[in-house]
Amino acid sequence: MENKTVKRSSAARIAAKRKAAARLSHVRPCACGCGKPTARTFAQGHGAKAHSALMKVQRHELKFEDLPSTLRTPELAKGDGLIARLLRKLEA
Ligand SMILES: [Zn+2]
Repeated sequence: MENKTVKRSSAARIAAKRKAAARLSHVRPCACGCGKPTARTFAQGHGAKAHSALMKVQRHELKFEDLPSTLRTPELAKGDGLIARLLRKLEA
């Protein structure tokens, strides 16, 4: 029987280690306002929480000013992502 496990080359292992180290150096609180540390903008699944909050603002169930301050930063409104586009629309 053939062994299906593929051993990673040392170059791939070094690249993976560098990537992991870079991620750790960029840890910051999740932008949804929960404060969970993450190397991305949002912790896993929290982009959906942010999107949900923005949809509440759009439906006038929540005031824009009542969103967490981490969601109202100009950096988040940059780009072409769903949350950025919603933020620009709601700010206008
Ligand atoms: Zn969060």
